[in-house]
Amino acid sequence: MCNGTRIFTGRGFSTVWQSRNQNLLSDSSRLCVFVVNAVYRMTKINCWRRLGAVTAAALFLSGNPSSSGQGSPGIGIKQHARSVQPGEVVWMEARSPQPLKKLEAAAFKRVFPFYPDNTGLHWEGLIGIDLETSPGSYTVELLGMQDDGTALKLTRTLTVKEKRFVTRHLKVEEKYVTPRPELLERIREESERLRRIFASVTPERLWRGAFVAPVPGSPSSSFGSRSVLNDQPRSAHSGADFHAPTGTPVKAPNAGKVVLAAELYYSGNTVIIDHGFGLYSLFGHLSGFTAKEGEEVPRTKVIGYVGDTGRATGPHLHWAVRLSGTRVDPLSLIAVLAATTTTDKPGAAKPQQANDK
Ligand SMILES: [Zn+2]
Repeated sequence: MCNGTRIFTGRGFSTVWQSRNQNLLSDSSRLCVFVVNAVYRMTKINCWRRLGAVTAAALFLSGNPSSSGQGSPGIGIKQHARSVQPGEVVWMEARSPQPLKKLEAAAFKRVFPFYPDNTGLHWEGLIGIDLETSPGSYTVELLGMQDDGTALKLTRTLTVKEKRFVTRHLKVEEKYVTPRPELLERIREESERLRRIFASVTPERLWRGAFVAPVPGSPSSSFGSRSVLNDQPRSAHSGADFHAPTGTPVKAPNAGKVVLAAELYYSGNTVIIDHGFGLYSLFGHLSGFTAKEGEEVPRTKVIGYVGDTGRATGPHLHWAVRLSGTRVDPLSLIAVLAATTTTDKPGAAKPQQANDK
């Protein structure tokens, strides 16, 4: 029942692949593979374009949870998602007949790294649809490089359907709605610290397999809800709330490195785990934490305890997930990885269902 933290938009993904022969590349929404014998270079641009209209040839159709296709070099693509809507995670898989050195997706003006199996033939990646994404058709570009240095690009379309989030009215202490002026600098510094964390990308995947719920019990479906605090509208709720008694152990939902363990004004005692590749978990309102900054934690390691510190109306766990800066539903992350054929899923959890409040 908290409002979580403020909106932190990741802006650290300005580095994208660009081909010098970009004129050879098409924006076709069909599954097309373009092999361009060009030297790729890393350059700071934000050139990913959103297509206004797409053809029905796109294989990524809403309501079709898993699809596949073949391109001219024989690369097959599959995807899986609970739904293609704001706040959802889309898992994508590429199978190539020859090893690839690199593969990543560019979508929503962000970059989502893919990771290979040990053959370099099978790649997987997660794409986040931010909770405030407008419905419509968006281009997903899969950009890769073959072993011989040949660049390739596949262009697909992701059709995001509308999602309506509820509005919730909460009463909190007035100091969390209108902080005293002397607190504003602290709040600004904490906001900037979080922004920098979520904008950075560890170039290594630290998580393995499925994510598990950090506390027992069913979470509420408050992700994405529009909060009205003491009659004043606030930003969308960017986490999932798990109601649990104070002192309930909070376990790492997957492996990663603790990059923040501190008391923050709004989220109270807070722990952030960097799962690598731009994927982060934030846990807020803890009564206390055992995790230390810089510590590497395995899945299910206790990192802290449920509490009601910061802007909370009662004991609960606030779990927020950032994926390449997008704000996505943690339950979507749990569900999509548990349901896919990912090759490294030790102790995979069953998908969890959100419960409406
Ligand atoms: Zn919350």
